[in-house]
Amino acid sequence: MHAGVYFQSMSTSDEKTQEMILHGIQVSPGVAHGPAFVMTPMELEVPDYKVTDDQVDYEVYRFEQALMLTRQQITQLQEEVRMKLSEEEALIFDAHLLVLEDKALIGETLSLLKQKHFNVESCFQKVAQKYIDFFSNLEDPYLKERVSDIRDVTRRILRNMSGVNDSSFENLKVPSVLVAADITPSDAAQINLDLVKAIVLEHGGTTGHAVIVARSMGIPAIVDVTRATQRIHPGETVLVDGYSGTMVLHPSKDTLFQYDQIQLHKDSIRQMFLADSDGNNVTLDGVPFILQANIENSDDLGRVREASAEGIGLFRSEALYLRSDDMPNEEEQFAEYKAVLEGMDGKEVTIRTLDLGGDKVFPKAMRQKQTHEDNPFMGFRAIRFCLKHKDIFKVQLRALLRASAYGNLKILYPMISGVSELRQANEVLEEVKAELAQNGIPFDPKVRTGAMIEIPSAAYVARDLGKYCDFFSIGTNDLTQYLMAVDRVNEEVAHLYRSSHPSVMRTIKQIVVAAKEAGVTVSLCGEMAGSPTYAALLLGMGLRELSISSFNLPEIRYILRRLETSEMETLANAALECPETVEVDSILDTFKRDAIDPILDVAINGIGA
Ligand code: PEP
Ligand code: MG
Repeated sequence: MHAGVYFQSMSTSDEKTQEMILHGIQVSPGVAHGPAFVMTPMELEVPDYKVTDDQVDYEVYRFEQALMLTRQQITQLQEEVRMKLSEEEALIFDAHLLVLEDKALIGETLSLLKQKHFNVESCFQKVAQKYIDFFSNLEDPYLKERVSDIRDVTRRILRNMSGVNDSSFENLKVPSVLVAADITPSDAAQINLDLVKAIVLEHGGTTGHAVIVARSMGIPAIVDVTRATQRIHPGETVLVDGYSGTMVLHPSKDTLFQYDQIQLHKDSIRQMFLADSDGNNVTLDGVPFILQANIENSDDLGRVREASAEGIGLFRSEALYLRSDDMPNEEEQFAEYKAVLEGMDGKEVTIRTLDLGGDKVFPKAMRQKQTHEDNPFMGFRAIRFCLKHKDIFKVQLRALLRASAYGNLKILYPMISGVSELRQANEVLEEVKAELAQNGIPFDPKVRTGAMIEIPSAAYVARDLGKYCDFFSIGTNDLTQYLMAVDRVNEEVAHLYRSSHPSVMRTIKQIVVAAKEAGVTVSLCGEMAGSPTYAALLLGMGLRELSISSFNLPEIRYILRRLETSEMETLANAALECPETVEVDSILDTFKRDAIDPILDVAINGIGA
């Protein structure tokens, strides 16, 4: 796949209406068009609090770290622009780097911190604002230009220090194509996605949270579109082709017509996939398999039912926490979990306990519990946070247990790295059960618990973990990043993030074997399972349960019902033998061409394409 940008001149001479094609990477299929809603940064809400004498050194350290990180980000951006655009455009960032070295700005911030003892971001903001005001009032156009440099760098530094949200998505009022530099998980949880027809991002990997959400809702999305927020202006018509990873700015009537035809065709294929559901999910040779859905909240239930999912395999409960600045209380959580359990009518609902951290920034009310981390994906997240803040964990467990009286609940712990964490989590659950029992509050005493297997250490001790839980859920999004030491949302290393790496293949197989030995059930809920070829591979490895987005589910079911277990096993065995990613890819490509495409061809011919 090629990422980059080029302009295609069309016959019209009017620049503003000239069709322009921008290239990115396709991450969520589909075609959609509409007016652009360009997410631009707003004023930041910077925390302002007193620090004690002995915290001053730590504040200086935080400031230095933020400056260093900002320098790395700007240099990286400069390099990208130099490669993709021109040396001249890259030079703009020299001015930004100069701001970072500005002795007055930095020196005054540190003196203010030492004199007044306020947190460093608040001191820095005050000093930066003073300079912004000063330069804004000057006549000299060159010096005036510096205002935007200082503003830009200030925002970047503040964002790096506070993790504060500074986006303008609240202004999204009409169905639009969302264009943004990136979308944080908390943005994704707060944006009214019903108004989002498609997404175009400058950054964001293929398993970033926003991308997962887009895919699960069937919203076409492309990422890695260079300088999209500057090239696309609010209100301009944008057409996004999530199949090829391209987008057309100012599409002509002809182009819109052509794409509408493609979409109509895809829609009728989807209808056929949806109709292919008789409650009997078995492969061609009669082996049963279960397809469940991944959801973010109870609003997703309509799509889950439409797809005839056999349950919820992963409810990412953190979306509840990301939706607002406050922490959801027990009643709010209970209402949400109960709604999902009742909505699923006795089918299994697997709710994962809080998985904040990593790319999921804590909501404001919990932020004081989160310290700055250089390596958040390896840091204080998920179960690690919950076991330290048992008060927060217990509120969620109480809500979950109370809801368990209304359906078929399974509780899933994220980021388990070994037996002791799993046992501790279970102990807290038992404490909460005892409290509820004492107060005569009903719950399902046999509620099943499970561990996400997404850290290599957990994969190695999976057999032992199986003694302390009822099921495993393999999280290949994280498992891949930790096995390969590749940050899943860093586009610089996106080419190294390969779920087809032999280590990923063999680790999945090892977990499936361990689950069998331990006598627990195992499902896989990473994005990998949403691809037909991978789904076949996973069944070939012995998995019988997959949890995927409702959007992908009907197609996966259609295909798996038309494949023989033996051909999937042959595929898996061949993939497990490969020493290199390219070889696994080549085996998967061949299987797609020889076994999956013919099934799709028959389907497409059947609807008269
Ligand atoms: C995973 O890691 O594979 C997973 C399903 O969880 P998340 O994407 O929320 O980390
Ligand atoms: Mg995960």
